[in-house]
Amino acid sequence: MSLESFREETRAWLEENCPESMRTPMPADETPHPGRRATFKNPETKVWLDRMAEKGWTVPLWPKEYGGGSLSIEEAAILQEEMARINARKPLFGGMGTTMIGPALLEYGTEEQKKEHLTNICNGNIWWCQGYSEPNSGSDLASLQTKAVLDGDEYTINGSKIWTSGADHADWIYCLVRTDFEASKHDGITFILFDIGQPSVTVKPIKLISGQSPFCETFFNDAKALRQNVIGEVNKGWTVAKRLLQYERTSIGGGMGGVTGVGSTIPQRTMADDAVDRIGAVDGKLADSALRSDITQHIMDNKSFALTVHRNTEESLSTQAPTFASSMFKLYGTEQNKNRYELMLRITGTDSLGWEGSEFSDADLGTTREWLRSKANSIEGGTTEVQYNIIAKRVLGLPD
Ligand SMILES: Cc1cc2nc3c(=O)[nH]c(=O)nc-3n(C[C@H](O)[C@H](O)[C@H](O)COP(=O)(O)OP(=O)(O)OC[C@H]3O[C@@H](n4cnc5c(N)ncnc54)[C@H](O)[C@@H]3O)c2cc1C
Repeated sequence: MSLESFREETRAWLEENCPESMRTPMPADETPHPGRRATFKNPETKVWLDRMAEKGWTVPLWPKEYGGGSLSIEEAAILQEEMARINARKPLFGGMGTTMIGPALLEYGTEEQKKEHLTNICNGNIWWCQGYSEPNSGSDLASLQTKAVLDGDEYTINGSKIWTSGADHADWIYCLVRTDFEASKHDGITFILFDIGQPSVTVKPIKLISGQSPFCETFFNDAKALRQNVIGEVNKGWTVAKRLLQYERTSIGGGMGGVTGVGSTIPQRTMADDAVDRIGAVDGKLADSALRSDITQHIMDNKSFALTVHRNTEESLSTQAPTFASSMFKLYGTEQNKNRYELMLRITGTDSLGWEGSEFSDADLGTTREWLRSKANSIEGGTTEVQYNIIAKRVLGLPD
């Protein structure tokens, strides 16, 4: 089918199948967390998810046999454009299934593993969380101590993870466990998947000063995992773990890096307009010249970064995997995102002093909260300092 025909068909299908309420910006309290425990405040969110999943368009680039759409990059871009044209919401919002464990499974999973787990991701049946960090293993992740012992066809797992984002909503965890305590620390790690709905897993949300609990402590007390859910080779899980981190870093850097505003309720393009509305204009230009110059620089940097991310995405797709360059994107994208919210706060001025309450608009309260959230971007998925180390060693080839 020609790209033109594909666009026509896509447009017609979206017109017919995208419910009216799915053509509006997503209110924070309607953000769906699909999975076994999903609740949909707006029932049309589920209708939209099911229709898109049936079409294979929740993850359009994945192969059809695993629940994707088998679209080419060009077709996926058209789908994205057509969805943007009618302001259609993403049917599967965020989630580590589509951005992290899914891509890693495509690369390292067996046929059975792909069929089972990828399909459940595409349909929104299973929601995933990441069990990497431990209380004493963050940047030095390979020092992890959670232990797994094989007995017959089943591993028994003991230990704990921390900062497990969304574990309280999740169904399954992809987890790094130590299966050989004699080997050097990067060997002896196994990458395994298991259901965290079992009674031997305890998930305790960590309450932040914001009152929210975006992440949890997760305890395993004789938790069980089937041997068939080991990804890659036993004791060679570090290879899979590193690759997944590259997917994660590319996603954090590209998706949240201020380029598209994905993950944000504030569209990038309104920043300059917002500044003019609040601060005023002289001769058609923003009255505060220093701020004007900083916004201009930021927009130019975003544009260049977007083009570089795009080029890298194309290169990654042809080689089927990201590279250590993902550390550069993570580093730059997250700094850009932080810079963006610093600018937003300068624009919002004293209206950004609110945390809650009716004296402040929802948008201004959102800006303040997202400004604070943006600070975590350069910690999650490996800190900025860790990215500098990787870039020095793996990209620039500098000595240890
Ligand atoms: C919002 C958010 C969500 C997260 N979600 C998850 C999740 O879902 N699953 C999960 O497993 N983890 C998650 N994490 C944890 C995250 O991966 C760790 O916080 C991160 O890897 C840093 O580890 P740490 O917190 O133990 O800090 P530490 O490793 O203790 O680091 C402390 C400081 O020392 C610096 N440092 C450490 N080592 C070096 C070094 N060799 N060279 C230079 N500087 C160094 C670090 O850069 C940092 O500034 C999340 C974190 C955040 C903030």
